[in-house]
Amino acid sequence: MGKVVLGVTVGVAVAACAVAALVVGRRVRSRKKWKRVVGVLKELEESCETTVGRLRQVVDAMAVEMHAGLASEGGSKLKMLLTFVDNLPSGSEKGIFYALDLGGTNFRVLRVELGGQRSELDPDVEHQPIPEQLMTGRSEDLFDFIASSLHRFVENGNDSVQSSIMKELGFTFSFPVKQTSVSSGVLIKWTKAFAIKDMVGKEVAGALQQALDRKGLNMRVAVLVNDTVGTLALGHYHDADTVAAVIIGTGTNACYWERTDAIIKCQGLLTTSGGMVVNMEWGNFWSSHLPRTSYDIDLDAESPNPNDQGFEKMISGMYLGDIVRRVILRMSEELDVFGPVSSRLYVPFALRTPAMAAMHEDDSPELTEVAKILQDVLDISDVPLKVRKLVVKICDVVTRRAARLAAAGIVGILKKIGRDGSGGITGGRSRSDIKMRRTAVAVEGSLYTQYTMFREYLHEALHEILGEDIARHVVINVTEDGSGTGAALLAASHSSSGSVDNIQLV
Ligand code: ADP
Ligand code: MG
Repeated sequence: MGKVVLGVTVGVAVAACAVAALVVGRRVRSRKKWKRVVGVLKELEESCETTVGRLRQVVDAMAVEMHAGLASEGGSKLKMLLTFVDNLPSGSEKGIFYALDLGGTNFRVLRVELGGQRSELDPDVEHQPIPEQLMTGRSEDLFDFIASSLHRFVENGNDSVQSSIMKELGFTFSFPVKQTSVSSGVLIKWTKAFAIKDMVGKEVAGALQQALDRKGLNMRVAVLVNDTVGTLALGHYHDADTVAAVIIGTGTNACYWERTDAIIKCQGLLTTSGGMVVNMEWGNFWSSHLPRTSYDIDLDAESPNPNDQGFEKMISGMYLGDIVRRVILRMSEELDVFGPVSSRLYVPFALRTPAMAAMHEDDSPELTEVAKILQDVLDISDVPLKVRKLVVKICDVVTRRAARLAAAGIVGILKKIGRDGSGGITGGRSRSDIKMRRTAVAVEGSLYTQYTMFREYLHEALHEILGEDIARHVVINVTEDGSGTGAALLAASHSSSGSVDNIQLV
């Protein structure tokens, strides 16, 4: 009996030891694994590092590249495209004008009534998603779709579609275009999710005009502009100190007001105003100072446009979620912190930026939104709190870098036009000698307007780079639907009734 008791006791003790060893072993392994996870996170943080010193290098590189792009055709990855927009809306425009805005996830149709005095604008706007198959199909189908939407919009607004009075239309087309006049231009290449082969090298406004004519709409494409130019027009309409406009949405780009004599590649360009809006196509900016990670390299290599739009791929809404997905995938594959590797993690763009932003901004103590999105979007369940915190940190690192780089780009423009308080590219004068003029930058795009953390990081970096004394002279104005409304304003200021051709090439 005693032996049996002893035997059972020894047996229990051995089993307890084995269990304890197993638990300790697991803990050690899990601690080691966690250390490796932290290592991957640290590596990400280091390669995304944007110290003020590094941002200032990006500022300088941007200003230098702008110069190079203005000096000669193909002189820089920045195309610095002429827009032929040589004056911005003054407020005296009158009448009903229409605009189409094509270039992002949503396509917009607008109508705005102008009373001849600068006032709050209240455009009618209709948003419509572009069916995916039209983004990669035939150009005629895309333009017919657009013309039909406009036709419906005009009818619903009780305007007669076949009215005997021709309506003027502003067309915002947010892809790189080589303009030949303010109302015509040739598509250089597609970006973002668009890839309609038969359109590259073709006249864009002409293709739209033909579709409008096919539909029997009595409308004339009065201006063909980039979304940044529309944004600048609206920004300037409301605040005459506006010198540049930046879009941070699905993609990213900027334009600004430049003196014609600085546009060296176009010798003899004369405008009445002495200036012209230049569309930078800054999404394609590149510099060795940009903090690049292995995730960026993979994203680029697997994209339909490798080696293109490098700045955009680090900054804009189309890509941020996918960078985060790649980091989570690596951690999941190599370190098994997310349980069995979810097949959703292999799907490109499975994690969209709005979902990533929602995780980043989840302020619930248990990070319930993070858990929900991991489950619903990426099919990853039962993630412990510590791993959910890790996901938030990854989102933070990726967004902070993006926002700070966008800020550096903005300061690059200010530097190029001598509004950063440093005396321009050539420098020389000390900061204290410079009398800073109030300078406004118009910003549009949901990444900036809808993503609070992004916006705050951008503002913080602007202040860090410029210093408080200079930064207080720089204001960022959000323009709502500026890319479209601005095009309607430009259609008005360039309408056939009132326009004089102010541009000469001598
Ligand atoms: P577009 O650039 O397509 O003209 P927007 O300026 O509205 O249109 O930008 C849309 C992009 O902004 C989306 O593709 C998405 O990446 C990003 N976005 C939209 N909403 C949010 C959000 N709440 N948080 C973060 N990013 C967002
Ligand atoms: Mg847009």
